[in-house]
Amino acid sequence: MPVTGGAPQAPPTPQPPGLNIVVLDPAHGGTDLGARGTGGIRESDIVLEFAAQVRGALEAQGFQVIQTRQGNANPSFDDRSAMANAQRGAIFVTLHIATTGVAGTARVYVMNDLPLAADSTGLIPWDRAQAPFLSLSRKLGDLVEGNLAQRFKGSPTFAQTASVRQLRTTAAPAIAVEVSSVTVEDRAELDHMAPGVADAIARGAAAFRPSYIVPTNPGERP
Ligand SMILES: [Zn+2]
Repeated sequence: MPVTGGAPQAPPTPQPPGLNIVVLDPAHGGTDLGARGTGGIRESDIVLEFAAQVRGALEAQGFQVIQTRQGNANPSFDDRSAMANAQRGAIFVTLHIATTGVAGTARVYVMNDLPLAADSTGLIPWDRAQAPFLSLSRKLGDLVEGNLAQRFKGSPTFAQTASVRQLRTTAAPAIAVEVSSVTVEDRAELDHMAPGVADAIARGAAAFRPSYIVPTNPGERP
């Protein structure tokens, strides 16, 4: 653009970076096998396989994906949260295979209400890091659950609330996705769900993207 006046042109204001990172948490791992089914199905194994497909679907939507574990490790809850809390412009998705629920359905959970009490320093205590993000988490959760409900009949229409340990300490929009269930006799029933679950998470995250104005500093309140 030509400069018409004598005043120096202000440098272009940098666009605030938007949501572009998904921290993907295949739950359990290591000695923690998670839920176990009668057919020898282990939650800790299946969530890793789901994660590979979710990752592919998210990358196809332009997201950078950081996994909390690649192989059979078992990072602590705090380590997993810390990976999300260190990012700027990230959401957190933890993957589980449930012991309950009708086989072939999937539910999204968001953390139930946490009191937003700050301590005397004005800082939000670590174990309530999720509190300022609850409404964003619900929005993300509803978008993902809506996509899941279209693919997996009998799934709820909206995200449910629960006390989910991995979400509590996460300072980012955060959801848990639970696929039902480890009680299927043939694990192929679960394998067949993975592409649909991956697609629903990726579409939900993409739909959520414009509504998340990313805080300037990591861990800052939205
Ligand atoms: Zn689990």
